[in-house]
Amino acid sequence: MSTFSFSIDAECPSSWARAGTIQTLHGTIQTPVFMPVGTQASVKSVSPEELREAGAQIILANTYHLMLRPGSRLIAEFGGLHNFMHWDGPILTDSGGFQVFSLGHLRKLSEEGAAFKSHLDGSPHMLTPENVMQIESELGADIILPLDICAPYPSSPQSAREAMELTHRWAERALSVKEQYRSEQTLFGIVQGAFEPELRQQSARYIGSLPFPGLSIGGLSVGEPKAEMWDLLRSVTPELPRGKPRHLLGVGSPEDLVMGVSLGMDMFDCVLPTRVARHGGLFTHYGRVNIKASRFSAQHGPVEEGCDCYTCRNYSAAYVHHLARAEEQLYYRLGSIHNIRFMLRLASEIRASIIAGTFPEFRDTFLARYVPTSEKVREDQREKWKAARSRLS
Ligand SMILES: [Zn+2]
Repeated sequence: MSTFSFSIDAECPSSWARAGTIQTLHGTIQTPVFMPVGTQASVKSVSPEELREAGAQIILANTYHLMLRPGSRLIAEFGGLHNFMHWDGPILTDSGGFQVFSLGHLRKLSEEGAAFKSHLDGSPHMLTPENVMQIESELGADIILPLDICAPYPSSPQSAREAMELTHRWAERALSVKEQYRSEQTLFGIVQGAFEPELRQQSARYIGSLPFPGLSIGGLSVGEPKAEMWDLLRSVTPELPRGKPRHLLGVGSPEDLVMGVSLGMDMFDCVLPTRVARHGGLFTHYGRVNIKASRFSAQHGPVEEGCDCYTCRNYSAAYVHHLARAEEQLYYRLGSIHNIRFMLRLASEIRASIIAGTFPEFRDTFLARYVPTSEKVREDQREKWKAARSRLS
């Protein structure tokens, strides 16, 4: 029996922001929510206890990586991901499709599914809408996603349409086998349509009409200019059913979280906060700082004044700076904890402002103060995508 439910606690009258509550078998999730990403069933360098203490309500794990190593069957033998990784809160797994397409491992795309070679040992594998449901049932997450096609940026209108239509047929196939597996898992539908507003709207209406209890918006933040991503969401959100939670897949810088909520999104996941932390990039309300910069070398106060994370409560910026410069193991943990807590606190501040009826002021104040990282980073991302695609031939 499904234990999944979603209710809306408050809506902002002058934007599309809403605060909601999701119930799952492993706990309650208050939205808007940021979901730290544990690619290999581990949020890099942070323990489940530390995630809990930072306020994480749900984490994401990657099916692609886990099916190849250690294998979904082995994880099932250990009672699923919750037991295997010692995290008793809600978990969401993606379908593996994004990695197959974005990392350049795809060998053949057909009506049947996506054939690819493992990046670990070159062994051949095939993802189909049906076997993805089986693999995800073995992993045992609370929320699971169906196989979809993430079209690259840019895509021709014709290939964008073909990818969307195949994604829709795969969504139906996933739904038709889902009931053979664990009923306590909740399958979200994925909206695609690349960068064509009409296709996005069509996909939102179609996927929204199928019996998925929640929806993920896929295929964004793949190197397109941010303005284009927000324009697409502006045309998509009005087509989404109000009563289902909306997950913006793979999006999650601080400014993205604030903008995404304003445009009607409830759930966010991204490796960015932990990845940039490992490279010395730590979030503050004024933007991302490089903790390795010499201006922190003798700073007695914390990385950010007023931050309630474990790192800032216990260590000076000078010490964190020293650890980062010396590439000490402890730095990776302390830096990751700060950025995760920053994202989680930001999400709960956004939620509180929606409930208090002050979200527009919160959004405008945050965005006026926060200096985002330049588009250069996004261009680099796009180049990586192009390189991945060119290796397909
Ligand atoms: Zn902190």
